[in-house]
Amino acid sequence: MKIRPYLYKKVEEDNWDKILQNPSEITTLSFQTGTVKINLKGTLNPDHPLAEGIEDKELEVPILAYCVRHHTEGDILIDTGLDASYINDQHGGLIGSAVDEFGLEENENIAYHIKKHNIKLKKVFISHLHSDHAVGVRELPKNIPYIIAKGEYNEYQPLIHGDFLEGLEELYEIDFTNAQNIPPMGPSVDLLGDGSLWAIRTPGHTPNHISFLINSLNGPILLTMDAAFIFENLRRGIAPRDYTWDVLKAQETLERIIDFLNKYPQVRVGAGHEALK
Ligand SMILES: [Zn+2]
Repeated sequence: MKIRPYLYKKVEEDNWDKILQNPSEITTLSFQTGTVKINLKGTLNPDHPLAEGIEDKELEVPILAYCVRHHTEGDILIDTGLDASYINDQHGGLIGSAVDEFGLEENENIAYHIKKHNIKLKKVFISHLHSDHAVGVRELPKNIPYIIAKGEYNEYQPLIHGDFLEGLEELYEIDFTNAQNIPPMGPSVDLLGDGSLWAIRTPGHTPNHISFLINSLNGPILLTMDAAFIFENLRRGIAPRDYTWDVLKAQETLERIIDFLNKYPQVRVGAGHEALK
């Protein structure tokens, strides 16, 4: 697999007001590709000063993937969810003590959704390399660009318990070093060059986690991915602790997202494991 830089042009605009005033013809589909059990106490960091009375309670939440359909760039996947190997094996064939368990019904795997919606996949962006967001690569075409943030692969490659990126010809990396800082979100990249789809650096859950903003004529959508697992993270202002690389960074990132959502209440939001509202 060749690792290449994802080429983009740094935008001059450093103001979301202006960006959101120029939406594009881009639509969003969301798919559930399985479920995962998480605990509310841990999904909301119990050590946070505002964390009081958080129940020790298991929640079953969806594993999600999105497809955006762009008027000239075609169909683009954002995260992959699970492949069909999880239908009969909650570890999806991955081996090791730290492999997560997921549930998957028939007709929930990502290839099923792709076929059902007649999606002609042109590229795939991945928020981070945890298996519930990326393992579905195994049943997707290999000859299209797959894109993550720079550093994510090197950081996670030794930990992914079976290389689910195996067989890819190329992996592209977004380098945020020279990206425009657009407050309050921070370094942001105009992925398609027309302001329709943005990658936003949101470290904490993993060192190089990214969230996405879809700037559609139907209204803007922020996909936090795992910067917030559920809406309760945003509502209470408490970031996750579980599955989290750096809890303090995750908290800082969450607070930037909350600032953004307060400033732009017209933005619809999807959390990492709670469907778009
Ligand atoms: Zn994750």
